[in-house]
Amino acid sequence: MLSGPAGVGKSTIVAYLREHHPDIWHSVSVTTRPQRPGEVDGIDRHFVDGPTFAGMVEADELLEHAQYAGHWYGTPRGAVEDKLAAGVPVLLEIEVQGARQVRRQLPDALLVFLAPPSWDELERRLRGRGTEPAEVIAARLATASIELAAEEEFDATIVNTSVPEAAEALVALMHAE
Ligand code: 5GP
Repeated sequence: MLSGPAGVGKSTIVAYLREHHPDIWHSVSVTTRPQRPGEVDGIDRHFVDGPTFAGMVEADELLEHAQYAGHWYGTPRGAVEDKLAAGVPVLLEIEVQGARQVRRQLPDALLVFLAPPSWDELERRLRGRGTEPAEVIAARLATASIELAAEEEFDATIVNTSVPEAAEALVALMHAE
């Protein structure tokens, strides 16, 4: 499982793995966040409304779930359990609160923390994303510093100096399991 602060490049690593390591199965998260241009429902995320998400939580259909930046995210339990039972390598790309829940649910899971090369680099990436108001950026930086502090809870850390190197390091860790 790959976690780490927002802006560190988790989704870029996932995109690289989809292309270069199609044997790894990626969980498709359920989210209440609006669909972004270019995203495909059912491939990138399952886009649902709040009541639908709440119903999934109620029915215990999610392995973990967490609120992030005002929206809900969760991992569908059934698909992950089926793949694990079939011996398929499974990758979850989730934020830190969800990672803690997976640790409790699946004690054997490998929890990998993706770290930025430096705080300055992370700050640059978080600021550089768009033209958001200063308070949005400040909130994001505050969340990122809390997320960075979670690193010690993880089984391994990979520093995202380059996407192919970090992605291949993750594959090596998964195969070593
Ligand atoms: P995004 O809005 O870019 O899809 O995701 C925002 C954050 O939520 C990212 O840090 C991403 O790793 C995390 N995330 C995506 N899917 C899940 C999920 O199913 N569960 C949890 N806990 N976090 C998720």
